[in-house]
Amino acid sequence: MFDHFETDAVRIQTPKTEQKEHSTPLFLTSSFLFDSAEDARAIFAEEKQGNMYSRFSNPNTTELIQKLAKLEKTEDGVPFASGMAAVFNSMFALLKSGDHIVASRSLFGSTHQVLNLIFSRFQVGVSYADIGNEKQWEEAVQPNTKLVYIETPSNPALDIIDLEWISAFCKKRNLILIVDNCFCTPYLQRPAEWGADLVVHSGTKFLDGQGRVIAGAVLGRADLIKEIRFIARATGPSLSPMNAWVISKSLETLSIRMEKHSENALKLAEFLEKHTEIELVKYPFLPSHPQYALAKKQMRLGGGIVTFVVKGGVERGRKFLDALKWFSLTANLGDARTTITHPASTTHAKMQEEERLAVGILPGLIRVSVGLEHIDDIIAEVDQALAQSKK
Ligand SMILES: *Cc1c(COP(=O)(O)O)cnc(C)c1O
Repeated sequence: MFDHFETDAVRIQTPKTEQKEHSTPLFLTSSFLFDSAEDARAIFAEEKQGNMYSRFSNPNTTELIQKLAKLEKTEDGVPFASGMAAVFNSMFALLKSGDHIVASRSLFGSTHQVLNLIFSRFQVGVSYADIGNEKQWEEAVQPNTKLVYIETPSNPALDIIDLEWISAFCKKRNLILIVDNCFCTPYLQRPAEWGADLVVHSGTKFLDGQGRVIAGAVLGRADLIKEIRFIARATGPSLSPMNAWVISKSLETLSIRMEKHSENALKLAEFLEKHTEIELVKYPFLPSHPQYALAKKQMRLGGGIVTFVVKGGVERGRKFLDALKWFSLTANLGDARTTITHPASTTHAKMQEEERLAVGILPGLIRVSVGLEHIDDIIAEVDQALAQSKK
């Protein structure tokens, strides 16, 4: 009916019930009634659309998926209980033993574990390539390569992959391209418009935006989604109606939240860049980012995540974190509250030191997810902790 992001995010809604509710109600029901024996048979046979059981579908999860698919400009999608269930199933559903994956080296910690420790048990091989090194990507592809998995910007290094280039690379070799779009959300970047086949989300982050629930989704090409839906329905990593409801409501404010997260993050990054106690700062929309031009090409704004290294090594970094008065020291990101973490000792602790260094996770790197508090308070908090930790 509409074709504006903001309007779709607010107005896509499950059909009203006879109660004439304005806001979507919570459909806390494990199963649904059939009108007749014939109706039951037809729904089970998938000749007729209809809810039968909430492991398969539910009005709340369907509303969320219809909204996300439209916002990502994709054909269809599958909801999942977590971002990692989405990451795992986006690949698992399309692979068989003997297949091979090519992935960017710079990935979320748990995604590394899935690739290195879980798929290897089923004779699915993985090769990694460095962002921007075209020769490595070409050499990584084998005759049995089935899909390419990437994250852009990456967590936490904020490296950026050229979506137009990687899509063309995959099309030419008949490989399925999967993109984790968690850091951007569809408001800032739409990988499918550049040619990605599947887009993966952790709903836990900016889509929720208030750090309340765990959720995930895979959006993309209808033929691939059909395979993923089959596996999801049979094995049961289903999203709860409650969590789907929370996230669908949150999407109503996604555009204005992402604008503000990005505005605050850019201001903080600019402040850090000028500060004498800072060794390095990285933010996609800072002209000093090595892929600034690319970020500008494929992202609407820079997003909410800034990374930096405080002068004085890991020890100083720890003192800095302990000197913070009100930033939340927590592993989550994409919250209205500013959250801060030290990736090398938390989210990416299970990687080897060399693996971390290879993807830009320096020992002293700090990742901040800039919240929606007043920017003057955010800057003052960082400034006092830098001064305090110098003593
Ligand atoms: C958090 C995160 C995930 C995993 O999502 P969960 O909801 O925690 O399971 C996947 N990819 C990225 C980039 C993330 O930041």
